[in-house]
Amino acid sequence: MADSRTPLVFLVGAGPGHPGLLTLRAVECLNEADLVLYDRLVPARFLDFAPASAQRTCVTELADRHVERCSLVHDTMIAAAREGKRVVRLKGGDPFVFGRGGEEADALRQAGIPYEVVPGVTSGLAAAACAGIPLTHRDHASAVALVTGHENPAKPESAIDWAVLARFPGTLVVYMGIAHLAQIIQTLLEHGKPADTPAAVVQWATTGDQRTVEAPLCDLAGAVQRAGLAAPAIVLMGPVVGLRPRLAWFEHRPLFGRRVLLTRPRHQADDLARRLEQLGAVTFNLPVVDIRAPVDWAPVDRGLANLGRYGWLVFTSANGVHALIRRLRQTGRDLRALGSVRLAAIGPATADALRSYHLEPDIIPAEYRSEALAAALRERACGQRVLLARADRGRDVLREELAAVAEVDQVAVYSQVDVVGPDPHLLDCLRRGEIDYVTLTSSNIARAFVRALDAPCRARIETGKVQLVSISPVTSAAVRELGLPVAADAAEYTAAGVAEALIALAHAG
Ligand code: SAH
Repeated sequence: MADSRTPLVFLVGAGPGHPGLLTLRAVECLNEADLVLYDRLVPARFLDFAPASAQRTCVTELADRHVERCSLVHDTMIAAAREGKRVVRLKGGDPFVFGRGGEEADALRQAGIPYEVVPGVTSGLAAAACAGIPLTHRDHASAVALVTGHENPAKPESAIDWAVLARFPGTLVVYMGIAHLAQIIQTLLEHGKPADTPAAVVQWATTGDQRTVEAPLCDLAGAVQRAGLAAPAIVLMGPVVGLRPRLAWFEHRPLFGRRVLLTRPRHQADDLARRLEQLGAVTFNLPVVDIRAPVDWAPVDRGLANLGRYGWLVFTSANGVHALIRRLRQTGRDLRALGSVRLAAIGPATADALRSYHLEPDIIPAEYRSEALAAALRERACGQRVLLARADRGRDVLREELAAVAEVDQVAVYSQVDVVGPDPHLLDCLRRGEIDYVTLTSSNIARAFVRALDAPCRARIETGKVQLVSISPVTSAAVRELGLPVAADAAEYTAAGVAEALIALAHAG
């Protein structure tokens, strides 16, 4: 039984939407949650930080009416905490900034439930930062006001003193202000706020859908309507907004707003996803192949039992490295079984996989493809035995080229299978034109991806509306053999190379 002072409910700020703006403490709380009660604006992927066994409930769907929903949230939190569950109440931005966190904490206090509040990056501050608008500046603003625009200012019962805000000597940050934008501006102007005050609206701040419209205060409502901006958005007003033309950076990143579909197995997509997101892209992951144990371990086990007889152990993928080392452990051995066998890796990702076990490859060819690896090995492995650890499907170039000079045993340390029915929602996004690019990082993945496409998806690629970017000419050839065009391939056959190719393509178009 937890002692009575241990918090059971965590009111956690999820930040404005970008995963990098979740706090470490928020992730810790999610890691240990039994129940996550989250708001609609919180991106679904944040829930992945909770254990698979945790229950997840979107509170926006709990009840139709606002008042009922609030008390339902309170009751649900309290009931779950009384059962000894760790409850994370995950809210957009900061829980104590227009998030009803105060009411929720009070309900917990009344029920005698200990709680912790985890601050989050509030969307008003994040919107300013990502729009290139410093909220304070020694020359322009020494104060900031956070204001809710939820109420119609024309209503006499409005709790906000717009006359005072019109004279406020600093930056105004208005949350929930889009629905009543015209009335809010009208009211401020009537109370004497200068019509030429620099102003801006930032929609979906910190995400790939961020859009910013700037105009003098008197023209802002019209400009926002013409641009079609909608909630969630932050309104910023004050002289500091005038700095944006000089300081804007977020929307200038090379892949800003580009929507990229990745097709790697889930555990391998992260590196490329992070790289592309840092460049401003929005990424989606549609794994089309899955990694499994090989159909038969016997050839691998024979190879491992006789490692002393091999001069070289050759890997053509990071998956191969991990699968082989895992097998060593499963069969009761460890790295010492490798003895003095030399190690070859086809490229940097495979080499890094080896290094993660403190193994340094003896060869990495200058060009990351089978032909180059074969050429590098031909001299050094001449007359020796070579163990080739690879997938159960793939090209035979390496074995064929080496067989002329060495004795080669090829074993499948993992099996690659097509994912059955890849995520239909993402294929739908592709069909509807919500994807700009698809990255293909091996020939097998490329073939599996093309097999997963129906006629409307293929048509989007054939007409160039969706562009395919491949990791190498070999992968591109596999795609072209299946009748689809490839818009670009990477000069260096790595995730970084794919990112470079995407940047070049985005800027050519
Ligand atoms: N607690 C939240 C605010 C909740 S009120 C926070 O601290 O940010 C909901 C309002 O927040 C929206 O109407 C919008 O004004 C703002 N908002 C939330 N996320 C946003 C985002 N990514 N971009 C712009 N505004 C956002």
